[in-house]
Amino acid sequence: MAINTEIENVNCLIIGSGPAGYTAAIYAARANMNPIIYEGLQPGGQLTTTTEVDNFPGYPEGITGPELMEDIRKQAQRFGTDVRSGFATKVDFSLRPFKVIIDEEKTILAQTVIIATGATAKYLGLESEEKFRGSGVSACATCDGFFYKKQDVAVVGGGDTACEEALYLSGLCKTVHLIVRKNVLRASKAMQERVAKSENIITHFEHVTQEILGDMSGVTGVKLSNNKGEDVVIPITGFFLAIGHNPNSEVFKPFIETDEVGYIKTIAGTSKTNIAGVFACGDVKDSSYRQAITAAGSGCIAALDAERFLSEMGVA
Ligand code: NDP
Repeated sequence: MAINTEIENVNCLIIGSGPAGYTAAIYAARANMNPIIYEGLQPGGQLTTTTEVDNFPGYPEGITGPELMEDIRKQAQRFGTDVRSGFATKVDFSLRPFKVIIDEEKTILAQTVIIATGATAKYLGLESEEKFRGSGVSACATCDGFFYKKQDVAVVGGGDTACEEALYLSGLCKTVHLIVRKNVLRASKAMQERVAKSENIITHFEHVTQEILGDMSGVTGVKLSNNKGEDVVIPITGFFLAIGHNPNSEVFKPFIETDEVGYIKTIAGTSKTNIAGVFACGDVKDSSYRQAITAAGSGCIAALDAERFLSEMGVA
């Protein structure tokens, strides 16, 4: 393959295309920053793997995740955002303009960079989990729990997220089965107590998920194995993963400070990273809220921070 040696200079480069990236693009484009956005491996981000989105303001009847992302993308394009496919494979943030290599071949020199690469939910890696993803298998109880009202569901994981999701679901569903591979929960004591007190959460310690069962209608049950090697089948219609997320920050780590898990650190109340001119928004910097609307809000903040930076530098 021919090496593309072209170098392009841009005022505002946005990396990643979920609600954070596209919202940053809307604001940057409307501020005449001529943003270029590289969409990454999953254009539209995690929301493209969900079905209905009922909690994004402005859609009284709900909207599907892919449609919502397409709408925000079009809105960004309407103001002139240059939306491109491509993945940032290397960065050099030691000097400004910042150097970003796309797909190992194209070089962008950017006055500002907005990182909006999101996070990826961890999955167990089962074939059946893949089969029912979006039709009974979900990695977000706040997004999809509503569709399982008064039904029996399962949550896998033993950390704070799993407990929080189980508690959230316990307010909606008939029974919540919390599946924990160890004989203890890793979650905080306060969270453990709330789970223990909840009458409709049944915790299955030392149980490992073997298979998600289902048919054309979606998930119908889950097959577990216990510490005695016995199989246990629990009828459920929803299976929620809560075994952690991986923030997509690896490529930036030589320059950008992250916490121990890999979430990008920003100055409180801003999108500013440890490098002036590089901003972060959305799930790559947020281990706590992880909602489409909070990601969109933080994308707006990043674009405003980038605009102020450019104007202070006299670039725009
Ligand atoms: P954690 O890494 O803390 O917990 C992951 C859980 O999933 C662990 O119980 C782990 O089991 C289990 N797990 C991992 N892989 C598998 C697998 N293959 N099969 C079965 N179980 C598996 O992730 P969280 O998302 O819960 O939390 C991330 C961070 O965010 C933590 O620091 C947490 O405290 C924080 N947080 C805080 C909240 C709050 O304060 N309200 C809410 C949510 C998160 P094992 O224990 O056996 O390793």
